[in-house]
Amino acid sequence: MIPDELKKAKPMTGKERLGANRDSEYLGAEDIDPGVEPILTIDHIYNSRVTLQRGKEQKDVITFKEERVNGIRNVRPLIVNATNRKVLRKIYKAVDAQTLEGKLVQLYIDHNVRDPSTGEKTDGIRIKPKIPMPPRTEPIICAECGKPIMGVASYTAEEIAAINAKRFGVPICAECSKKRREASAEQKTEEVIDADQREKVSDLTAALKGE
Ligand SMILES: [Zn+2]
Repeated sequence: MIPDELKKAKPMTGKERLGANRDSEYLGAEDIDPGVEPILTIDHIYNSRVTLQRGKEQKDVITFKEERVNGIRNVRPLIVNATNRKVLRKIYKAVDAQTLEGKLVQLYIDHNVRDPSTGEKTDGIRIKPKIPMPPRTEPIICAECGKPIMGVASYTAEEIAAINAKRFGVPICAECSKKRREASAEQKTEEVIDADQREKVSDLTAALKGE
């Protein structure tokens, strides 16, 4: 039996996965897609009391400029542990706000993190001990108008390109996609008018012949 509240929901499909949409204020290993090492830009650093599973604690927290990146559907602030703080100091030589704001970090999942509450091994988010190369800034070019494909609403440029490539066989921008769809709708209307007129002409021919 499916509970009523579940009936309204759609089952996940394709690459959608458990954990990616969980309710949490802070970034966890489950937020990162397996096999992806997302690159993020530090927005601000904080030191504040944060609510953890084991209670409230004073923690360093990093917020990021991105809301969504390849590998993380919902970018949340990262609570910085001692290991990640050391990595930041190693790669950027300092861990003050002035140094870190605007800097890039690349995250990965370490499967051998000791859970402080159970002592068991768990997955943890680690910052790679290397300054990442800036993410690919080379735009995807629209196969129709030749302009770079841009993101629209909650869709990234990559997603727009992929959706339209599936629809039309070539990656095109949202504007060209709209034009193509409007054109095909118009063509259909014209075909209907054409068929209509052909019928009228044949009716007229028939009338003239006195049929
Ligand atoms: Zn275009």
